[in-house]
Amino acid sequence: MRMVDLSLIEAARQLLADVTPLPFDCGTLCGHRCCTDFAPNEGVYLIPGELPLFDGTEDFTRWQFHRTDEYEFAPAWERRFDSVPFLQCTRLCDRSRRPFECRTYPLWPYLRADGTLEMRYSFLAHGICPLPERYRIDQLDPAFVDAARRAWELLMQDEAMREHVEWLTAQYDALELPPA
Ligand code: SF4
Ligand code: SF4
Repeated sequence: MRMVDLSLIEAARQLLADVTPLPFDCGTLCGHRCCTDFAPNEGVYLIPGELPLFDGTEDFTRWQFHRTDEYEFAPAWERRFDSVPFLQCTRLCDRSRRPFECRTYPLWPYLRADGTLEMRYSFLAHGICPLPERYRIDQLDPAFVDAARRAWELLMQDEAMREHVEWLTAQYDALELPPA
């Protein structure tokens, strides 16, 4: 079972270390909903291989491990990984330690037919995050959108992450959501 290369994950996290969707703290628009409005079964998936970037001294974490044959992941992940770590925050984190998924939120990648990546609002962000209703993607901070795209491009050097992006893209296509 080969995890995603740690140096790729670190580099992707670093690209998104200091950029945010808007030039001000978007948490002021919503009371930090994406960090505080957790239903009992909600949380954040780590990238397989990201767990070593947590050293156990974090005091905002509660962990579950979701088996790939029980939860929904890219189909090929079932043979690649037994389980994927799932973080449920108990309070606002120390930002420098937040996982990749939080750094790219609320954007996810969409793989165009020509092989280029487009950033779209996560289809799971609708109803939680107010940004999709208030801002088109091209109204977000371009530095954030660009860094998110570069971070995902970097991660896609790993085959498992490429499968993940293809799986997200298939879900966008099935939902027939228009690009924002
Ligand atoms: S829910 Fe959206 S607007 Fe609110 S803090 Fe999270 S990313 Fe920002
Ligand atoms: S890890 Fe931090 S940024 Fe991510 S959901 Fe938890 S509190 Fe929010």
